[in-house]
Parts: sequence; structure tokens; C-alpha cells
Amino acid sequence: MESINTGLAVLQDISDFYGGHRQVEVLRLDRIHPIISGNKWFKLRYYIADTLQKKKTEIVTFGGAWSNHIVATAAAAAEAGLKSTGIIRGEEPRQYSPTLQKAAELGMQLLFQSRADYRNKSVPSHLQNDHTCIIPEGGYGKLGAAGAGTIWELINKPFDAVCCACGTGTMLAGLALAAPAGTRITGVSVLKNNHSLQEEITTLTGTQTNWELLHGFHNGGYARYTPEQIRFMNELYKATGIPSDIVYTGKLFMATAQLIRDNYFPRDKRLLLIHSGGLQGNTSLPGHTLLYS
Ligand SMILES: *Cc1c(COP(=O)(O)O)cnc(C)c1O
Repeated sequence: MESINTGLAVLQDISDFYGGHRQVEVLRLDRIHPIISGNKWFKLRYYIADTLQKKKTEIVTFGGAWSNHIVATAAAAAEAGLKSTGIIRGEEPRQYSPTLQKAAELGMQLLFQSRADYRNKSVPSHLQNDHTCIIPEGGYGKLGAAGAGTIWELINKPFDAVCCACGTGTMLAGLALAAPAGTRITGVSVLKNNHSLQEEITTLTGTQTNWELLHGFHNGGYARYTPEQIRFMNELYKATGIPSDIVYTGKLFMATAQLIRDNYFPRDKRLLLIHSGGLQGNTSLPGHTLLYS
């Protein structure tokens, strides 16, 4: 299997796309690995290191049928020589999604739980043992945030603001914890009415005040999208060559346009957008919806 290549995570200037705002760049984390793409490897790296260091042999984690985290964990575990089990939300489907097919192909054991059981995030008793490391859904937790903080190692120039998409908020927390003084982190929530997210991020960031979370850009809710969003994603691709995904980065890039129009980011601010990957999620779309994928 190909290994992670963080050297491919270049900064790409797309100021022109945003109408000549002073400086808008994108950190292309989508390019570091074909499967463990984007922020997922950063969130997983310390969980994997901890598992190996404690001489455990198996990783268990949670996610839905289209989860970037599930497939990234399957690949990262395989690469580290670890067994993996994915506890998947919902009954076993007759036809696996491409995400689940890929995870299974990578050797991940898939266990399906009813939505009611899944809500409790209970781990079956045969997986509760000393050889197993349990990673919370989405890699949420202190180790996940610490790993996400290492994204800064790839950012070699100063920015006033960094914007990222938020699911569990682990990446936002990690970026905020490791940010240089004077840089603010703005998170765009991709979920609708997820009011507990602010608190979940605060649990990880403690007293840190260099970040904020915006709730107005979910376009209908998790994994939902509007025709305008699809149009915007295609325009972004035509103008910059950057593919985005429907669940996370499409919403981030679109929100940024609105925020610049609203002067939320004054023109003299240097902005960095994190392209956190997730392109495999676009396989849920009908063919030809996007110009790419
Ligand atoms: C998982 C994911 C996120 C969300 O990361 P959190 O740390 O859970 O907030 C953002 N973008 C993409 C592409 C993802 O796959």
C-alpha cells in the first residue's frame, strides 16, 4: 500500500477565485494519500502510535456507511500491521457502499449495529480486552486533536485566519491548540443544529479563545446539499482545479465566499483554508453531478 506523503500537501493560492481578496490559500491535505486522505491521517497518527507502543494488535472504531474516518482507519491500521474492526451505524445493507467495500477489502471487520444500539457506542464484549485500542467516532479526543495539531508542520508562512470544516471538531481543536499567536481558527459546522459541538470542542481546547464555530453553512444538514453548492463546487474546480466533497469541503469553500462578501474576513487578512480531503464521499452522488469524480 502507498504510504502517506505529506510533501504533496502544497499551499495553493486561490485569491483570484475569491475576487482578489488579498490572500486566500488552500492547504491541499487531500493529496497526501489516495485513501487515508485529508485530516484523517493526522487525527489517527497518535492513536496508531499509542496502539503500537502499548503492543496492542487491534483497533476498533465507529462510523456510518459513507464515513471517511472508517475507510481511513481501515487503511491506516492495515499499513501499521494492525487488525481493525469498524462498528457501523445501521443494519447491514444488501449492497455495501463503496466506502464499506473498500474498508472490507483493506481487512476491516465490519459489525453492524442498529441505530439505537449505535447511539450508545457500546463495544461488543469480545472486543473489550487488553489487545484492543478503541478510537472514538471521528477520532474525537485528546490524541486526535494533538495529531491534528501537527498539520501546522506543513504551514510554512503566516496567516491571520485558518478556516476548516467541522464534524466532531477534533481538527479545529487541534489547530487551535497548536496555532501561532495571532492566528484565529474559524470552523464551519457541516451539521444542522449541533449545539453540543461548541462544548465538545471546548472540552478539548480548555481555556483557549483563538477559535470560533459557525453554524449557518450546513446547506440543509449532514451530507445534504443544495443545487447552488454543486454549482459552486464545479465552479471552484473549473477555476482552480481543486475538487471538493459534498459533506465537508464543498461547504467550507462556499461558506468562505459568503464570509468574504460579508466582510467577516476584512480584505487585508491572509486566509488559509484547510482542504481536509474526503473526496471518496462523492461516490454517493449520482454520476455526472460533478465535473470530476
Ligand atoms: C472527517 C472530516 C472533517 C471533520 O473533521 P472533525 O475533526 O471531525 O471536525 C472535515 N473534512 C473532511 C473532508 C473530513 O473527512
